[in-house]
Amino acid sequence: MELLKILSELPGAPGREEKVREFIESKVKDLADEVRTDVMGNLICRKRPTSGNDDAPVVMIACHMDEIAFYVRQIDDQGFVRVHNLGGFDTRNLFARRVRIQTRDGEEIFGNLNPGGRPVHIASEKDRTKIPKVHEFFIDTGLDREELAEKVRPGDPVTLVQELVQLGDLVSGKCLDNRAACWVGVRLLEALKKTPYDVHVVFTVQEEIGLRGAITSGYDINPDISIAVDTTLAVDTPGVPEEEQITALGEGAAIKVLDAYMVSDKKLVDEFIALAEEREIPHQYEVLPMGGTDGGAMQRARSGSRAITLSIPTRYIHTVTETIHRGDLQATVDLLQAYLSE
Ligand code: ZN
Repeated sequence: MELLKILSELPGAPGREEKVREFIESKVKDLADEVRTDVMGNLICRKRPTSGNDDAPVVMIACHMDEIAFYVRQIDDQGFVRVHNLGGFDTRNLFARRVRIQTRDGEEIFGNLNPGGRPVHIASEKDRTKIPKVHEFFIDTGLDREELAEKVRPGDPVTLVQELVQLGDLVSGKCLDNRAACWVGVRLLEALKKTPYDVHVVFTVQEEIGLRGAITSGYDINPDISIAVDTTLAVDTPGVPEEEQITALGEGAAIKVLDAYMVSDKKLVDEFIALAEEREIPHQYEVLPMGGTDGGAMQRARSGSRAITLSIPTRYIHTVTETIHRGDLQATVDLLQAYLSE
């Protein structure tokens, strides 16, 4: 779990994934035949077909590196940092959060994120029930305005800080959406020895703000078969009826049938189900009414590709306590390895 801990704790705002990319590159550089970074910042790791066959089907696997985050908007007159969000935060989960600002000089400045307003002791009834908007939050860095303005400028990325911990068979921390899939991508490159496919494992950028890295890398690679690896909702927790839980933790890799951006290729769904049954790899179905993954972009790359998403069930998604099951993580690697191996 050491690899996942490092991946989870690294900052990687959409458009500023460089720290995650550099770390992954250091892990995979000897595991692929070609490793390169494209103009948008996608890290493309190619494993050629063992046969050397130039006509081998091209498979693209996308694991996005970015996390929902903020960018500095301004430093206000009182010396607090105001932010703009990239990605879908539930602001009810943003009270009293530790954050990290990455300055243009590479310095990291830590601070506390809170919404403006009165603490509970002096709050009115109305204050207590109010759900604040992102623009009402501010970061207290402890620095005076002048020093802060020297170091921090609009456009510096701001990410949440949280340590990854193990909870029994579960692992919990920040942005397991989608560093859990980055872990899968690295482990797959380690495990995959012989393959009949021309495999491109792509660690993509800017997924959380519209699948942007997968749009351009999908165009470049022009895959025949596309597989996104991402997290999905596991709402197997109190307060939600069973029919709305989407997936359950510990029940295996989720084979996506559809989400709001993509209907998976039926033949691929059938192939993955059959393979999982044959190899006794734990798996479950996923039908997700909202949201999407890089699969939706790759499916529509150029004239289209056969696409599917394999999902890692995740509780408390888009909070700093995202929680996954170690068995589901391994099942996802096993299923991909089984599919891609000769
Ligand atoms: Zn994701």
